[in-house]
Amino acid sequence: MILRFAVVSGLVASAALHAQSGAPPDWSKVETETMQHYQAVLRLDTSNPPGNEHLVVDYLKQLFDKEGIPSAIFASDPNRSNFVARLKGNGRKRPLLIVGHSDVVTTDPAKWKYPAFSATREGGYVYGRGTVDDKDNLTASLMTMLLLKRLNVPLDRDVIFLSEAGEEGSTGVGIGFMVGQHYPAIEAEYCLAEGGGVTRINGEVKYATVQTLEKIPRGIELVARGIAGHGSVPLKSNSIVHMAGAVARIGEWRPEIRFNETTGTYFRRLAAISPPDVAKVYRDVLSTDPKVRGAADDWLFENEPRHSSMLRTSVSPNIFNGGYRSNVIPSEAKVTLDVRALPDEDPAKFLEQVKRVVNDPAVEVRFSNQNARPAPPEARLDSEPFKVLEEVGKSVYNAPTLPAMSTGATDMAQLRSKGMQCFGIGPATDMEDGPKGFGAHSDQERLLESELQRFVRFNWEVVTRLAGSR
Ligand SMILES: [Zn+2]
Repeated sequence: MILRFAVVSGLVASAALHAQSGAPPDWSKVETETMQHYQAVLRLDTSNPPGNEHLVVDYLKQLFDKEGIPSAIFASDPNRSNFVARLKGNGRKRPLLIVGHSDVVTTDPAKWKYPAFSATREGGYVYGRGTVDDKDNLTASLMTMLLLKRLNVPLDRDVIFLSEAGEEGSTGVGIGFMVGQHYPAIEAEYCLAEGGGVTRINGEVKYATVQTLEKIPRGIELVARGIAGHGSVPLKSNSIVHMAGAVARIGEWRPEIRFNETTGTYFRRLAAISPPDVAKVYRDVLSTDPKVRGAADDWLFENEPRHSSMLRTSVSPNIFNGGYRSNVIPSEAKVTLDVRALPDEDPAKFLEQVKRVVNDPAVEVRFSNQNARPAPPEARLDSEPFKVLEEVGKSVYNAPTLPAMSTGATDMAQLRSKGMQCFGIGPATDMEDGPKGFGAHSDQERLLESELQRFVRFNWEVVTRLAGSR
């Protein structure tokens, strides 16, 4: 009898729980609210510099307080605060962190057709600074938090929401501060942040990318030294001549191609869904035949430079300083190389390679002192989050998922270096939009309203699958 009762009450309890927690969000209501919050945060001017991310934090604080979601504010500078909210799980699994950054890059108001902080809705788009970097992720994450709380979804792990300051070039007040001073507040097994997205071509979704790895900035400086003299008497040791030769050799050099799990999988999967001629290039570049691989490499360098950079540690000479008067032979010339290293690159060995390419004792080759970023391990492709992201990419976008390595650096580097597995996601955008000047950091940054809404559903699905009790 007791047993029977227990079973029955267990059933009742689980049915009640199910009714309470299994109800899907009312998406039409959610969409209206999503747009309200999205426009509200877009209208807060968090241009960095100076940042003023506290504007977003104030907004979030009153919103989360009203919803009864516990939160805390962390700031090294009161105007540049970070916001952390946490929904408790039953502790069966370690937490999941969902991140959006609240700052945006600066704008030139004269160039904006729709004012940068107006969040104007026009022709199915929302225009404004931050629409795709990163107030889209911020909004999707905050909506997921609100829905988890309102629907009282039972969780196997805590879900932590972080609105971080300073992503656009001042990580000391943002991720650096949080990881360095308040790591327990955000410590998690997995995190989701910006850095991925879904690619549409001709209005059709083609594939989703999830960022699982990124290159590491390792700036190198070249300093050529010679004898100063009168410009009327040319000298063999002219530092500008030596430097020009060194830079030309560097410019001709393409460091060796090397694949990791992420980039190898990326090119294989991209080949599988690309038109035959381009697909051949993606397959050829994976070839072990140096001739086949070399031809594909040449094509990518000319036509798809981002893909060329994904193949190797890349080197781009970006600053050239030398001379100050037309009649003075300068004793020194200096060049800064932007080096983006593959995560497994050995810095000391690479520096030796650069020296061999420069091949001039008059030119010193050294690391610049801006090499603070850690070299984090790759997020695993056989992990639970990557599998969930693939599944949800299929169900929400009907698209395959490609793991991707960013050529640029993101704040996930700091989190990954603490052992957190981080995955970069983002909404669908049109591939044609970037070249037309509508992308991130452009003067007409925009996002399709329908894709914002779809991204909220994607975010919700991923988080509930990863954190919800089964
Ligand atoms: Zn960003």
